[in-house]
Amino acid sequence: MLIEPSRRVKDLPPYLFAKIDKMREEIIAKGVDVINLSIGDPDLPTFPNIIEKMKQSIKDPKNHRYSSYEGMLSFRESVAKWYKSRFNVKLDPEGEVLSLIGSKEGIAHTPLAFVDPGDIVLVPDPCYPVYPTATKFAGGIPYFLPLVHKNQFFPDLKNIPLEVLKKAKLLFLNYPNNPTTSLGTRKFFTEVVKFARKYNILVCHDAAYTELYYDENYKPISFLEIEGAKEVGIEFHSLSKTYNMTGWRIGFAVGNSEAISALGKIKTNIDSGLFQAIQEAGIEALLGDQTRVHELRNIYKKRRDELVKGLRESGFNINPPLATFYLWLQNPPGYTSEKFTSKLLSECGIVTTPGNGFGNSGEGYIRIALTVDFERIKEAVYRIKKADFLK
Ligand SMILES: *Cc1c(COP(=O)(O)O)cnc(C)c1O
Repeated sequence: MLIEPSRRVKDLPPYLFAKIDKMREEIIAKGVDVINLSIGDPDLPTFPNIIEKMKQSIKDPKNHRYSSYEGMLSFRESVAKWYKSRFNVKLDPEGEVLSLIGSKEGIAHTPLAFVDPGDIVLVPDPCYPVYPTATKFAGGIPYFLPLVHKNQFFPDLKNIPLEVLKKAKLLFLNYPNNPTTSLGTRKFFTEVVKFARKYNILVCHDAAYTELYYDENYKPISFLEIEGAKEVGIEFHSLSKTYNMTGWRIGFAVGNSEAISALGKIKTNIDSGLFQAIQEAGIEALLGDQTRVHELRNIYKKRRDELVKGLRESGFNINPPLATFYLWLQNPPGYTSEKFTSKLLSECGIVTTPGNGFGNSGEGYIRIALTVDFERIKEAVYRIKKADFLK
């Protein structure tokens, strides 16, 4: 290396999943049949109607050129249509929708649009690691809001010191929540809108998991359903989890038009838009036949129920999550998260994610992903029962 990397790079924490990948590789090298329940990446293929659309779209030379920065209007219109039918939220496709190269891209660029060095960003703890990292890239300071069980994994907004609130620009939220699996409620979101108005803070709600629910009676809501939300917030969405499209990189941001425009300005100077053929496939995903999404929910439900049942029979205390493809499992007595994940790996050959990897308040839990097929879930249950963690 000729020159030293920036402080920004040197100060990065080791990427959580990289560390787990390494642990897994070491144990696979020893010949263990490893069951990987650590990664938030759907194991099933993209739905066939979307692939067919892509096959046609990729042949069209008009799709081979630079896209418009804010995304094709037809894609943004399909987003607006989907939001209206799914959440009854009205969006102007021209000013209130921005296409993203995956929602992670938009989340990561958002602090650059709003945060000056020394500004504070309110970040839930535990959380998707992009929120604090992107904050620091922009020179901002993350202020962590613990998500604990006794508050239904909602941050305690009343407990933030006034000096912090004065410097706070953004509040990141994520419901259904990764990793705690909890759902947003109208009551909490209403409190958030009031809070954001009072302290002049932009709410950035990551809604990647709203479509992965298990019960029609507990359908996750959009933050933008709340009256006044569009004045104070934007919402990030993604096709990744709903349509098994993580590799395609397609998502969008919706909501407050000034905020959407500021984020768009950052993007104009960094990327040159999203491959048009992928946007056309995205339209098919959002507006085409949704039968496969229902099927997908049932597949995850079967896995969830099997694992929850097995864990309960092993003495664990766990309620089935209402959304997301994760379980947020409390450690057995006497275990830290690190010790519990290590023991699951060494004794059962099962890879999970220690809760503290998502932030200090994740200590006491591990995250288990339901992204392997039913037979492997059954095998995992068998191994966990045999290990008898609660003996
Ligand atoms: C998977 C995930 C996303 C989606 O990422 P994409 O970049 O759209 O693939 C966003 N937020 C959270 C919390 C996630 O787990």
